[in-house]
Amino acid sequence: MDFRDSKVLVTGGSRGIGESIAAHFASAGARVAVAGRDLDRAEQACARMDGDARPFSLDVGSPESVENSFGAIVDDLEGLDVLVNNAGITRDKLVMALRDEDWEDVIATNLRGTFLCSRAALRPMLRQRSGRIINITSVVGLTGNPGQGNYAASKAGIIGFTKSLAQEVASRSITVNAIAPGMIVTEMTGVLDDEQKAAIKRKIPMGRMGDTAEVAQVALFLASPAATYITGEVIRVDGGLAC
Ligand code: NDP
Repeated sequence: MDFRDSKVLVTGGSRGIGESIAAHFASAGARVAVAGRDLDRAEQACARMDGDARPFSLDVGSPESVENSFGAIVDDLEGLDVLVNNAGITRDKLVMALRDEDWEDVIATNLRGTFLCSRAALRPMLRQRSGRIINITSVVGLTGNPGQGNYAASKAGIIGFTKSLAQEVASRSITVNAIAPGMIVTEMTGVLDDEQKAAIKRKIPMGRMGDTAEVAQVALFLASPAATYITGEVIRVDGGLAC
């Protein structure tokens, strides 16, 4: 796919799925902003990428950070065609053990962050009457998962938000879609022990965890001219886990 002339912002682009999405866009010719809370980590990720990848510090869960940094990122890119709301965290516990801050941190980063960045992205996108917003949710937002009540709520919220915003901006040629990964090999899933991973793999019809590139390729498809008539959709990338 050819993304020359495209300006892309990937939140949480400094590792894992976000890094792979950013790297795929950069090597397809896009000008890519790689944003995370830790600027050093974003710089290191950009250094690993081929093409025009630029590091930025951005905390998506903070209204002040989005207010102060988003416009500067768009100015640096000289526009914004694609926003990938990928930044996400987990604070896994059974609901009975969840502390208020475990709930609030996860909702603030995953759900409010998606809202704040999407709203900020709409300014340039509405002006140019085009744009692609791609939200990274999770199969857990479709199925729920014991021990992830806060995370599942944030990811289900992203799905409702995606479908609502898709309808609001469809007439301006802006599409809004979500990708729901299953179990993907990253630092986030690296915390699981071998026994937990084996139990999960038994539930996956394809019998293996996914690779970050398998998510990235779907993001590029949703941003490409092949997907002009797809909006409000949730695409599972899960090896059949949530069929
Ligand atoms: P990682 O933990 O490997 O990476 C998370 C990224 O998000 C990092 O770049 C991190 O950078 C950034 N980040 C975290 N909080 C913030 C914040 N407040 N503001 C800006 N950036 C932030 O996660 P994954 O790559 O595994 O996951 C990426 C997305 O995919 C998440 O939304 C996750 O929920 C979702 N997902 C992952 C699955 C998996 O199996 N791995 C399955 C389903 C969904 P920094 O710390 O520097 O801010």
